[in-house]
Amino acid sequence: MAKLYFRYAAMNAGKSTALLQAAYNYEERGMTVALFTAAHDERSGRGVIGSRLGLTRAAATFGPETRFERAALPAQLACLLIDEAQFLTSEQVVQLHRMAHVEGLPVLCYGLRGDFRGEAFPGSAKLLTIADELEEMKTICACGRKASMNMRIDAEGRRVLHGEQVLIGGNDRYRAVCPSCYYAGDGVDIHQAPGLFG
Ligand SMILES: [Zn+2]
Repeated sequence: MAKLYFRYAAMNAGKSTALLQAAYNYEERGMTVALFTAAHDERSGRGVIGSRLGLTRAAATFGPETRFERAALPAQLACLLIDEAQFLTSEQVVQLHRMAHVEGLPVLCYGLRGDFRGEAFPGSAKLLTIADELEEMKTICACGRKASMNMRIDAEGRRVLHGEQVLIGGNDRYRAVCPSCYYAGDGVDIHQAPGLFG
């Protein structure tokens, strides 16, 4: 029985690498897959899924208007793979869930669970609610504990507490940290306390 899967993590846990590996595993067995990524994620170029290990691959893009049920998908599709799934809308997650259970198409979504404020992304909230299988992909904080939070750091090296959920451009950076380091970062200039954040 096909399922909707959500594999979630903090930043830099290797989500895109895992997605590309999953695609390869299907294709090695002669099966066809379709890849999507968020239209506004252009870190690796528009419509490109890029892994930090250097692998890149072209993908279709989705925006809030995309209807996956009507997307031009290849015949005999074995699996739908979606990167940056936190940017799906709630309705799109329902479309994907329906495709898994009505059309029998497995859908694998990879994305962030929460933003730098500790708030859910809309797509992640819905995926965490209705996906059939949840899998946390683990990554490690600089202190050695499990990283589960995303910290936004501004150009001066301070943790950012408020602001837009998604910044396009700008000089802010992100770091995956454990909760202890996340809260220890309140108002701390990381250039002044480098030991705290490695
Ligand atoms: Zn830590």
